[in-house]
Amino acid sequence: MTTLKERLRRLIAAAGPITVSDYMATCLFDPQAGYYTTREPFGAAGDFTTAPEVSQMFGELVAVRLYTAWRAAGSPLPATFAEIGPGRGTLMRDMLRTLGKLDPDFIASADVALIEASPRLAAIQKETLADGPGAPRWFRETGELAERPLIIVGNELFDALPMRQAVKTAHGWRERVVRLDDEGELEFAAGAAELDPAVLPSAAADAPTGAIFEYAPARTALMEEIAATIAARGGFGLFIDYGYTEPAIGDTLQAVRRHAFDDVLAHPGEADLTSHVDFSALAQAARDHGLRASIATQGDFLLRMGLLERAGALGASTDEAARERLRGEVERLAGPSEMGKLFKVMEVARVASGPSASTGAD
Ligand code: SAH
Repeated sequence: MTTLKERLRRLIAAAGPITVSDYMATCLFDPQAGYYTTREPFGAAGDFTTAPEVSQMFGELVAVRLYTAWRAAGSPLPATFAEIGPGRGTLMRDMLRTLGKLDPDFIASADVALIEASPRLAAIQKETLADGPGAPRWFRETGELAERPLIIVGNELFDALPMRQAVKTAHGWRERVVRLDDEGELEFAAGAAELDPAVLPSAAADAPTGAIFEYAPARTALMEEIAATIAARGGFGLFIDYGYTEPAIGDTLQAVRRHAFDDVLAHPGEADLTSHVDFSALAQAARDHGLRASIATQGDFLLRMGLLERAGALGASTDEAARERLRGEVERLAGPSEMGKLFKVMEVARVASGPSASTGAD
């Protein structure tokens, strides 16, 4: 069978270099060989571990935040309670369990929706949620949802959407592409066409030759779509990802395979490809639709939502080994040298929908 790498080589040989964005999209979502279409990447046996897979406390606290936001918005019903990019379905499972205890009527009355691009992962999510509360339904994109207020969460979604890279050359900024070297191997290069200077931040002017700037129209477009829905119908959005809060120069494209960094070009379709998320661009997209957007670090968000108290409550009825495990989970989720600082939590809502659980960003 032809590997995805071989197919990419042939494609580039025949049709010329492809953009970083097209490379990323093909590696992640190629119908036959894409990473998300063919693999189950999460957990100890997979390639990386996400916050919901670290601890049930993550989903519990996120559920409480979404529920309070729904209440603050006037408890609208009918409403859609959605997760986009649910992976194995662990976050939704933990949220539904928590909401089932908090307010069974909410789960019974809201439309529980999972929006997933990969049919394979959707099937796994169905298994995870089979015996739980609620009657979840699956959708391929947000445009398919009923026209109702939307309460939506996405964890590590935006980092998996393709982004573009620009590289500074002696002749100015060019789009970064993937081409073939003299041996026919994949390599990065500067594309031929000049780049629209409007996409560049002011820091681009002083950047040295070889500097890289990332921008992500596909991420902005998805945020715009969700923001337009919330602006029109009401609701609340919570998006968690690793990223930064001001536009920055730098190459953050990374490949992770079996819990270790990999060469980005080495194993197309077999490694997870992501890049850090520019939260300032997502926040701007939300504000352009008249919404408020606030960004906190994951550590601040979880502590404010009561992570320590929740760990204490879970630990009270168990043994010392379990308490030690809970302490480890708290550290992993909120510790500044673990996920606590690098990961950010962005809330978007209509301006009048009540106080936010998060404040400024670092
Ligand atoms: N939220 C999960 C998984 C993160 S991985 C967790 O935290 O463990 C990214 C997820 O987003 C995968 O399920 C992937 O298939 C999905 N995805 C990527 N692009 C998407 C899109 N445009 N719409 C919906 N889901 C998408």
